[in-house]
Amino acid sequence: MQLEIDGWRLRLTFSAAHVMIGHKRCGRLHGHDYAISVRLDGEPGKDGVILDFGVLKDIVRGIAKELDHKFLVAKRHKNVAIKNGRVTMRSGRSTYEVPLADCAVLDIEQTSAEEIASWVGRKLRAKLAGRANLSRLQVKVEEGMGQSVWLSVKL
Ligand SMILES: [Zn+2]
Repeated sequence: MQLEIDGWRLRLTFSAAHVMIGHKRCGRLHGHDYAISVRLDGEPGKDGVILDFGVLKDIVRGIAKELDHKFLVAKRHKNVAIKNGRVTMRSGRSTYEVPLADCAVLDIEQTSAEEIASWVGRKLRAKLAGRANLSRLQVKVEEGMGQSVWLSVKL
């Protein structure tokens, strides 16, 4: 069986600014509304459910909250430096300096929907660890309505 929660309809969303470092058009500071949807493959447990919808929504809402109204920073990129409470990011001819407190620093190379989905997937996977009835996790990150990335990982 498969359980699904829909990011837009359940408001599992966040708004954030980012820079696709080095990218011709998206390498400038801009932002998006994002939505996180999740599908879980598994069999219902003794309680009759794959996972309580409320539990899953709370987890995803918590993850979205970490990113909401933040400047997304891909800390693994070589053009990113974090020092003395400030993030410095070079992209093309621009250099951005942002207070660390305004940033969501993610352990990724680039703030693409693909890598954000991977980051969300890692967080979710850790939260769902130990639930033997689950077999697969799928995470969809939509960057604006209609363009999305699905990540699929075995649990
Ligand atoms: Zn963008």
